[in-house]
Amino acid sequence: MTTTKRLPRHRLDPEVRPSRVAVHVDVDPERSASFRGEVSIHLEVGAPRRRLRLHAVDLRVAKPRLEVGGVTLSGRAVPLPELEMVELVFDQRIPAGEMTLTLDFAGKLRSDLCGLYRARADGHRYAFTQLEATDARKFFPCFDEPAMKARFRMSVTTAASHTVISNAPEVKALKGARGPGAGRKTVHFAETPPLSTYLVALAVGRLESSRPTHLGPTEIRVWHTPGKGRLTGFGLEAARECLRGLERYFALPYPYTKLDLVAVPDFEFGAMENAGAVFFRETLLLVDRATATLAEKKRAAEVICHELAHMWYGDLVTMAWWDDLWLNEAFATWMAFHVVDGWKPEWKMWQDFMHGRAAALELDALRHTHPIYCRVDTAEQANENFDVITYEKGASVVRMIERYLGASAFRKGVRAYIREHREGNAVADDLWRALSKASGEDVERVARGWIEQEGYPVLKVRHERKRGRSALILGQERFVLKPFGPTERSEPKRPRWPVPVVTRIGRGRRSRTTRHLSLGARDRVSLGRDAPSFIYANAEESGFYRPLHSPAELRNLLSHLPSLTAIERMGLIDHQWALARAGRAPLSSVLEISGALAGDPEADVLAALRKPLAFVSGSLIPEAAPKCEDAFRDWLLEHFAASFEELGWKPEPREDDATRVRRAMLLGIVGGMAGSPKVIDEARAQCDRYLANRRSVDANLADGIVSLAARSGDKKLHTGFVRAMESAATPQEKRRFLLALADFESPALIDKTLGFTLTDRIPTQDVIFVLARLLSNRASKQRTWSFVRKRWSKLRGRMPAMLASRLIEATPALLTSRHRREVSAFFRSHPIPGGERALRQALERFDWYRSFRSGAAESLRKTLSRQRRAGSPGVRRAKPA
Ligand SMILES: [Zn+2]
Repeated sequence: MTTTKRLPRHRLDPEVRPSRVAVHVDVDPERSASFRGEVSIHLEVGAPRRRLRLHAVDLRVAKPRLEVGGVTLSGRAVPLPELEMVELVFDQRIPAGEMTLTLDFAGKLRSDLCGLYRARADGHRYAFTQLEATDARKFFPCFDEPAMKARFRMSVTTAASHTVISNAPEVKALKGARGPGAGRKTVHFAETPPLSTYLVALAVGRLESSRPTHLGPTEIRVWHTPGKGRLTGFGLEAARECLRGLERYFALPYPYTKLDLVAVPDFEFGAMENAGAVFFRETLLLVDRATATLAEKKRAAEVICHELAHMWYGDLVTMAWWDDLWLNEAFATWMAFHVVDGWKPEWKMWQDFMHGRAAALELDALRHTHPIYCRVDTAEQANENFDVITYEKGASVVRMIERYLGASAFRKGVRAYIREHREGNAVADDLWRALSKASGEDVERVARGWIEQEGYPVLKVRHERKRGRSALILGQERFVLKPFGPTERSEPKRPRWPVPVVTRIGRGRRSRTTRHLSLGARDRVSLGRDAPSFIYANAEESGFYRPLHSPAELRNLLSHLPSLTAIERMGLIDHQWALARAGRAPLSSVLEISGALAGDPEADVLAALRKPLAFVSGSLIPEAAPKCEDAFRDWLLEHFAASFEELGWKPEPREDDATRVRRAMLLGIVGGMAGSPKVIDEARAQCDRYLANRRSVDANLADGIVSLAARSGDKKLHTGFVRAMESAATPQEKRRFLLALADFESPALIDKTLGFTLTDRIPTQDVIFVLARLLSNRASKQRTWSFVRKRWSKLRGRMPAMLASRLIEATPALLTSRHRREVSAFFRSHPIPGGERALRQALERFDWYRSFRSGAAESLRKTLSRQRRAGSPGVRRAKPA
């Protein structure tokens, strides 16, 4: 993509383009905190000039020389830090044409998990890269824009004992025999196919590898720090099976020579799709099949598949600029669920997808949301877009379009798009064109309404019966969270969405679906002569909108719940909770649906209803309705305790995973939310046994048990958790004990955990997650917030920019207006780069809570006292747990 419009000053001149890049780096993370190297770039220059600009940040760049037409020009390097560039000024005019630019560079291994950085594990030091979005410029001087693709040839000089991994296979390693080269080696890698700079990868250190597995000609390995070889089997199998599914989908073989998956002990993202050398957090790659929970396995498989989908969608065909980041991420997210679902249908991956979609629907209901497609000029703006709108809303819109066009037309379009742009770059319009051609539909019309416009609609649904015929009356308007307050009289402009509506129409206990593209503010869909027994206006939740059924329709739905799919039951509760928060439905309706779904056989449905219940018990009651505490606890026990007791603590031999997860979900409600003393006592006893023997407890229950025990835990238990964390046999176990440190309630132990966030006891990658969990814990949030402010300068060094925004996102758990003022003042005087939008969103959530709390508390009081009087008809009364 080159545009003729004037480019922002942060952009490179499109007339200077690299085609081949050789990078040599000298780095030994065990011995030195710095590195140096030489980069040689084959260029094509469009017009004569004296100066060249390329990207470099925190690097010393020296000795620029330019070989052109048989002569060598020398020049000097002038840093332009505000543009993250260096300007090379030559003593003579540079002619147009082909030439080779060579530069020396040197830098320090970073500690903030980006560029080329140093990570520690078990007393050893490693060097890894993390270059997306715009951090290749912190590793070597380069043309750091996604459309500036080039072929890379990497070579690395380091200690002979180190492993070196890069994108391409190793071609040779030369060991130094004597002198300063003794004990050192230089590893040379083959040249890569054309790649954007953000996909270049390097790992150096004492890494070990699994035995390879193969898919056709592709050799697949998992790399890890020493002693973790037994945890590689699951990742290898998932990678091979996902790669098989992806090759089939794209009808195009894996585009790179080999596939290395590297478990990195300290890593900012979940994983990174470097071409041929994918990097992961350890929890997402190294899995012990025997002790990992089903959720941990599913999440690892999904992330592995997401990264592998990028090998085609992102790496082979790359977005031309960061404004189309969603093209990469939305598609890879959707694809991962699609392919893992094909591999393991019993995992019901699309039910998992619903949780991510729910998070996107929630964020996108704020006024301070953003469109999926966002204008991006600077590196900070590029980084700001790695959020649930880009990933999960993007993937939901992809899913909506796929369902609208049909699976085979959609796949045909995607295949054509990948083939046409392979090894190059593309923009969204290229994809719409390919999909339109494959399907014969005007895809652009539907897609642009969702990609370029922020927010989404609520679809009001009513059944109308006139002269013996039925019709569906649909009306749409933007859905925004604004409860109980004065409603804004009119929006300056009323946005509309092209909504592919799929409705489930009940016929007795059976149902069928109808499809309809709803474009206007009001629409009428004829249903023929029969009056439907119920209507659910977002079948399979395939549309990114919330249906608002009339009270009569909602009553019908409640008596036909078994006729809805699990995904629809998850949707029903999530939508109703959102409608209640937006002041469009009473809170009582959320409790009514939750009660009706309490015995649901699907753990994912329980997970969906746990969200509103957790908010009521953890945020609404303590702050606004303390008198409701006992009544709500009774309500929870009445509805959920019997199901938990029926299942018991111990799984039956050969019990399926779904039941085990359901038990864990119920434990969270009955023990965690309702605080059943009997359940808490048993959890404590089980936790002691678990600390002594990790196999004494079903893996799926371990998180719940550890967390419950922590809440009333003493110093001895805290020490026990720290020991368990430090000696953990798997990354998931380590994470479990680490996060549970944030669940203790005694002030001294909270302070102890807070203190750890400043030390290497907690890896940089996890600091923010521990702080966020402390902020969500009622007992620790105040102390945590003061700690964050007091120790900011030290903490800041342990929070990489992308993760630091998550701290802002966690602050609305503080709830009160005083805290809103403090949060606002603090992050305005201590800004986090790329965190401005997160701050606006956080403040909006504080405001929402303030307007929600009193009305909701009142509604809760009424509902609970009404139910108490009525004795909860229709609900099995449980024995007190
Ligand atoms: Zn991705």
